Amino acid sequence: MLSSSLPVKPERKHNRSISDLSDPSTPRNLEDSRKNAVLYTHVIAFSLFELETITKSFRSDYILGEGGFGTVYKGYIDENVRVGLKSLPVAVKVLNKEGLQGHREWLTEVNFLGQLRHPNLVKLIGYCCEDDHRLLVYEFMFRGSLENHLFRKATVPLSWATRMMIAFGAAKGLAFLHNAERPVIYRDFKTSNILLDSDYTAKLSDFGLAKAGPQGDETHVSTRVMGTYGYAAPEYVMTEFFFFFWVRRCKRRPLE
Ligand code: AMP
Repeated sequence: MLSSSLPVKPERKHNRSISDLSDPSTPRNLEDSRKNAVLYTHVIAFSLFELETITKSFRSDYILGEGGFGTVYKGYIDENVRVGLKSLPVAVKVLNKEGLQGHREWLTEVNFLGQLRHPNLVKLIGYCCEDDHRLLVYEFMFRGSLENHLFRKATVPLSWATRMMIAFGAAKGLAFLHNAERPVIYRDFKTSNILLDSDYTAKLSDFGLAKAGPQGDETHVSTRVMGTYGYAAPEYVMTEFFFFFWVRRCKRRPLE
């Protein structure tokens, strides 16, 4: 059991709570959620020590996969990790400090997934923000990503009925985001971000690029072009180039 292999607990470092986080790139919602700490009551602030314990110090045989954010490890939380914790297998995502994504994406993910709950969204169990370490703890999804099922040679092909069920589940996740009281634009819909539970229930993960949608009388939001090449609609991606060339034209021929 974990309790017998618990290393000596080190001196507590600075494990900050969400409401402490101050970053110039703080998403708009975080400001609002700071005023209402209740929103995050079901998300646990883990210490780095606890996450090291459940992943056996991030042992290589605990690795589930690797993404743009960093490496994902398998772990198990229970009463031995912290009194009162429900026994649960989890996935622990560790931000790669040299990676493409950073604190901003980490914060966006905590901000959105910390507040949203739906059967077709992966559940964020907790996070860790200690010194420059940024980690995320999710419910464990037994069948990994849809991408692996579709493109890995060793996997059994999915039946048509299962594919339809997965597509329907993912669409329900998106519909929930779009119809939320405060709509959310997901911006990174792709097979590697659709995770599958033991019964092939599809759940959207990776909210690092998500953005609050228009609210009330607003008709649109201004945003940089975001997403993944090959998944985003070409005409949407092209808008960045049009904007770029339009700015250059204006620079060459300033308005008189
Ligand atoms: P990501 O960084 O989200 O792209 O994740 C990289 C890989 O880690 C995925 O393709 C999955 O195989 C695995 N993974 C990520 N999150 C989970 C999870 N909650 N449960 C199980 N495996 C996961």
